[in-house]
Amino acid sequence: MTIQFYNTLTRKKEQFSPIEKGVVKVYSCGPTVYSHPHIGNWRAYIFSDVLKKVMRYFSYEVIDVINITDVGHLVSDSDDGEDKMLKASKKENLDPYQIARKYEREFIKGLEKLHIQKPNYLPRATEHIKEQIEIIDELKQKDIAYLTDDGIYFDVSKFNDYGKLSGQKLEEKESGARVELDSQKRNPQDFALWKFLTGDNKNHIMKWDSPWGVGFPGWHIECSAMSSKYLGNHFDIHTGGIDHIPVHHENEIAQNSCSRDIKVNYWIHNDFITVDGEKLSKSLGNSYTLEELEEKGYSTLDFREMCLRSHYKKGVNFTFDSLTQGKSNVKKINDFYEKLQNLEASDVEDSLVEAFKKYMDEYEAALKDDLNTPEAMAAMYKRAPLANSRPNR
Ligand SMILES: [Zn+2]
Repeated sequence: MTIQFYNTLTRKKEQFSPIEKGVVKVYSCGPTVYSHPHIGNWRAYIFSDVLKKVMRYFSYEVIDVINITDVGHLVSDSDDGEDKMLKASKKENLDPYQIARKYEREFIKGLEKLHIQKPNYLPRATEHIKEQIEIIDELKQKDIAYLTDDGIYFDVSKFNDYGKLSGQKLEEKESGARVELDSQKRNPQDFALWKFLTGDNKNHIMKWDSPWGVGFPGWHIECSAMSSKYLGNHFDIHTGGIDHIPVHHENEIAQNSCSRDIKVNYWIHNDFITVDGEKLSKSLGNSYTLEELEEKGYSTLDFREMCLRSHYKKGVNFTFDSLTQGKSNVKKINDFYEKLQNLEASDVEDSLVEAFKKYMDEYEAALKDDLNTPEAMAAMYKRAPLANSRPNR
């Protein structure tokens, strides 16, 4: 059986076939580094880590990127409002670069805590302004991007496949879009590639020169620029949370296709975490950080185990009962591992080997079937009592 993934773009499970034999290139949308990462943020990186580890397990070489969004992500996805970094910098009385580096360090510490393998590349958006300007320039030259008083915008009517990823036709999207006063946008769905220092962004501290005037990039363009820089114009897998489908990834595909024809074969998206069935929110105080879980006596691996007990395409309902179950399962795994270390060849009868093989086959088949971690974990737990029944040396 070959590895299969559900591809959001084609809306079906597809056999994985690499572009280059034995190699898989993966880009994952990374964090906007303006606040403490919480359990809701971490699920996406646990998911992409498992995806990459499964590919390594099946002998692929993985080349991967997680970008650091340290500029350009405005409070609203629709190019309005303040920059998230700037808002945080006012709140904490630090300059935006200090904010970005502070939360980037926290993100990297969290990766280590969760045993998430550090990617080959962790590029910062602010260090790839030139690459972003180059793509915007290509779009501008082709008359797909246009100038307004407040920036450079992408004209979505010039891209026939706009809406393909989310399955929304442009007319449907437009009817849902809010009417903006005084907008010089040609279509309500047009999005910013470059923003000038006007209006809410008049005092934007992070700013760069461009052929069109001083400003800063829109949020989506960094992913087109950094994915193609590090993985080339055709790569295998792009991951992100399902919230990225209708705006961020739709826009990324539009930029990719209309500039230098950047192609991605598989778009894979993970669902969210809820806490006791409720959305994570500041007001409910349920957006726990890893440190808060540790203070309550849980390890980050307990949390990781809890996430893997749900399929990535389904929501994870976080409860402390479920986390306690995670703790007991992690202990089960550790005990099992220890027992295996102590097994002597003479302790192992053929029937035991057969049973191990059967569960191993189940485990591998589950992982190959669109990363079915709940089934894979169940197969692993079935093996544990087998080793436990063996005598210790
Ligand atoms: Zn992205």
